[in-house]
Amino acid sequence: MPLMAIVSRLRRGDLFFSRLRRQLAAAVAVCPFTSSAAHDAGTGVSGPHLPVLIVGAGPVGLVLSMLLTKFGIKCAVLEKSLSFSRHPQAHFINNRSMEIFRKLDGLAEEIESSQPPVDLWRKFIYCTSLSGSILGSVDHMQPEDFEKVNSPVCVAHLSQYKLVNLLLKKLEKLGMHVYRHDPSDDWEPDSPLEKRILVGHECTSIQSTNEGVIVTARVHNGTTLEERRLHCSILIASDGARSTIRRLVGVEMKGERGLQELISVHFMSMDLGNFLLKNRPGMLFFVFNQDAIGVLVAHHLEQGEFVLQIPYYPPQQNYQDFSPQACEKIISKLVGWALQDVQVLDIKPWVMHAEVAEKYLTCNNRVILVGDAAHRFPPAGGFGMNTGIQDVHNIAWKIFYFLKEVASSSVLQTYESERRPIAISNTNLSVENFKAAMSVPSALGLDPTVANSVHRAINTGLGSIIPKNMQKAVLEGIFSIGRAQLSDYVLNEKNPVGVMRLEKLKRIFAEGKSLQLQFPAHDLGFCYTEGALVADTSENTQNCNRAGSGRVSREYIPTGRPGSRLPHMHVKPFTAASTEETLSTLDLVSGDKPEFLLIIAPLKASYHMARVILTKAEELRVLLKVCIVWPHCSCQSRSTGSRAELEPWKNYIDVEECKKDRSWWDMCCLTNKGVLLVRPDEHIAWRTESDRVADAVSEAEKVLSRVLGL
Ligand SMILES: Cc1cc2nc3c(=O)[nH]c(=O)nc-3n(C[C@H](O)[C@H](O)[C@H](O)COP(=O)(O)OP(=O)(O)OC[C@H]3O[C@@H](n4cnc5c(N)ncnc54)[C@H](O)[C@@H]3O)c2cc1C
Repeated sequence: MPLMAIVSRLRRGDLFFSRLRRQLAAAVAVCPFTSSAAHDAGTGVSGPHLPVLIVGAGPVGLVLSMLLTKFGIKCAVLEKSLSFSRHPQAHFINNRSMEIFRKLDGLAEEIESSQPPVDLWRKFIYCTSLSGSILGSVDHMQPEDFEKVNSPVCVAHLSQYKLVNLLLKKLEKLGMHVYRHDPSDDWEPDSPLEKRILVGHECTSIQSTNEGVIVTARVHNGTTLEERRLHCSILIASDGARSTIRRLVGVEMKGERGLQELISVHFMSMDLGNFLLKNRPGMLFFVFNQDAIGVLVAHHLEQGEFVLQIPYYPPQQNYQDFSPQACEKIISKLVGWALQDVQVLDIKPWVMHAEVAEKYLTCNNRVILVGDAAHRFPPAGGFGMNTGIQDVHNIAWKIFYFLKEVASSSVLQTYESERRPIAISNTNLSVENFKAAMSVPSALGLDPTVANSVHRAINTGLGSIIPKNMQKAVLEGIFSIGRAQLSDYVLNEKNPVGVMRLEKLKRIFAEGKSLQLQFPAHDLGFCYTEGALVADTSENTQNCNRAGSGRVSREYIPTGRPGSRLPHMHVKPFTAASTEETLSTLDLVSGDKPEFLLIIAPLKASYHMARVILTKAEELRVLLKVCIVWPHCSCQSRSTGSRAELEPWKNYIDVEECKKDRSWWDMCCLTNKGVLLVRPDEHIAWRTESDRVADAVSEAEKVLSRVLGL
């Protein structure tokens, strides 16, 4: 059919075409790939072209802006709110995120000094009220967590908004400022946008061009509303779980929706903080009693800062039912007495999903989804923000090499092939962990799946035809019958049903079948199987972490397998002034520039390989440093290190293993002829043994081309 005929049938509103018309309209609005340059007259674009525009100043968008700014990539952030959220959602920062934060100008150290002492948050406590009987408690820290065997840094517990504040301070030091639009300022079309966090700027539409993306933002400052159009080469969607950009580009989420609805109550109470500090310090308190059920998150006991999560069943229950006074009453029922100093700060409904975006890149790789915009998990296990932080750590160096025209755009696509499987695996793990959390109420005779089925039946079945207030009464009646299972009459050592349930509970805790907090095999052991790397199938997979293996194993097994994070081991630089001065192998990878690291042993063939790779990297404009790992106690006898072998290059470092008992090469499942190429995100891109390489020049070319998608 000729094009004009199609267009005229579309205009006539032909039913046959109505769906197609909607799809076309969406495609044209979002990704027309027309030849219109953004600088053309009529586009209304303000400001010069930005290499990267980040939409959403949550933790994920801010971490990316920091990484890019450190790498010298110009970027700006748009944030729809005028102020940063104070609702403390995330609080558990896992090992891998802390390792990333160590490289962000001392952020990890500041988190460590701002968080409460670990003994105050290492436990989950299950009880009938915060002052009543303890049904069980689980300690989530193990000695190896403090010994820094697997990582140079420990997990942490800090409220998301406090982390965001620390990030903003770090960004300020890098020259990145929060900017609020003042209508009396004239918008100079050429005023630079980079290094600005533009608050009160809501992205409302996007349009793809040959050179990138034009973003329309609704700009408000509390009193006025204007529109602004900005042009960038790469648009990052870090705009959270209800991402506008994801909707605009028509990317679907895949997975399970609406696992549970909850009301989140952020409140302060020094009385409660002091009571728990003295009697039962912990991070999470699962409270089950006849009057109320809830999970209390102790964000900071010493500051009396808490968030209470209460199950919520709309539409029979309304958000308005949870007024500050109603929430105070629920808090009292869970505490066991009426607190006098509760100050409710914020009340928010939210829905738990387990979904991953079907695509992470769209519009010709110009629009990239990260963080909650790309995946949303149950918070069980604290994987949401952590996965987002690791997403942007993965994409930052790829953006650098793409924008510098060193790598092809296919390097950006490896972000999806690497990170999407990790999000799927973390989603599955979070769902399993969420189900494990439900095993405790189930053992107490309170099956949450029954509550959800009853709720569904009322919403969709015969129940839906009865009046709303009656539906509410029925639901609450059923729930209070359920909660009667938690009465002292049932739950006591003299009641055979109670004895059986308490025994079952003990078994769940003893066998580690309740909600867990730490998953080192996933946290540190996740491994990319395809992407910007040269896959190596030679290793015995028994010796590898398998990110898909669920909650079965806590153990992290270090490996040098391509795709894995570089193992941590303490090493001592030859230049160290004292015997105490050691580094983690992770510190050998720069945090300030997107530099690759080649690790070799001081052997002739390995030096040859290093010289060839240094030459090739220089030719391709790839930043690369070489690290030579010497056996324990080599430092004094070989004080000149690798100078004779590697001159005139200066970008190398000689280090020696700190321990005699385990060699670096054993840890990486290699002999000392090993050669490891590590990416700027500390993941291994390639490994070999120097005597296995027949032609070093063609091997170096093959490897670097593969990693950069050339
Ligand atoms: C109760 C709870 C507990 C949690 N606990 C943990 C935990 O312990 N550990 C963990 O890792 N994760 C946890 N999470 C998950 C974590 O909170 C999220 O994964 C995290 O907030 C995601 O960060 P983000 O930057 O991707 O998105 P967000 O934090 O949602 O930030 C998105 C930003 O984009 C802005 N925005 C949205 N739309 C636009 C637009 N159109 N234009 C401009 N700006 C826009 C928003 O205002 C917001 O500031 C928890 C979540 C919940 C609900």
